[in-house]
Amino acid sequence: MKAIQLPSLILQGKCPKCHQGNMFQSQNPFHPKKGYQMVKNCPHCQQATEPEPGFYFGAMFISYAINTAFFIIVWTALTFIYPNYSLTVLLSLLALTVILMLPLTFRLSRTIWIYIFVKYKPEIELENQS
Ligand SMILES: [Zn+2]
Repeated sequence: MKAIQLPSLILQGKCPKCHQGNMFQSQNPFHPKKGYQMVKNCPHCQQATEPEPGFYFGAMFISYAINTAFFIIVWTALTFIYPNYSLTVLLSLLALTVILMLPLTFRLSRTIWIYIFVKYKPEIELENQS
């Protein structure tokens, strides 16, 4: 695995151990039902997607960081596009961004969190390919 591939794997919701299986039931984060649902185990290497109860509690901190990035982007864009904005406009735009991006934030924060704890095993990727 090259470090360059990591953001792409995280965006696709691939398993951290084999980089092959999908961790979510749907590849579309905005799918109304399946977008939020994770598979129990990786279909490729059987890695549990929830290694222990409450595992994703810490993903909240990743989600916080992602939302902060969204806030900075929206705030900066608004300042350039419409410099005379009111606080109401800013807060409404921020709330709208958080709500619209929720499916993406949810998946990204969980995926980043599990990538921190589960190490990549390249031999699994090679074993099952042949
Ligand atoms: Zn896997």
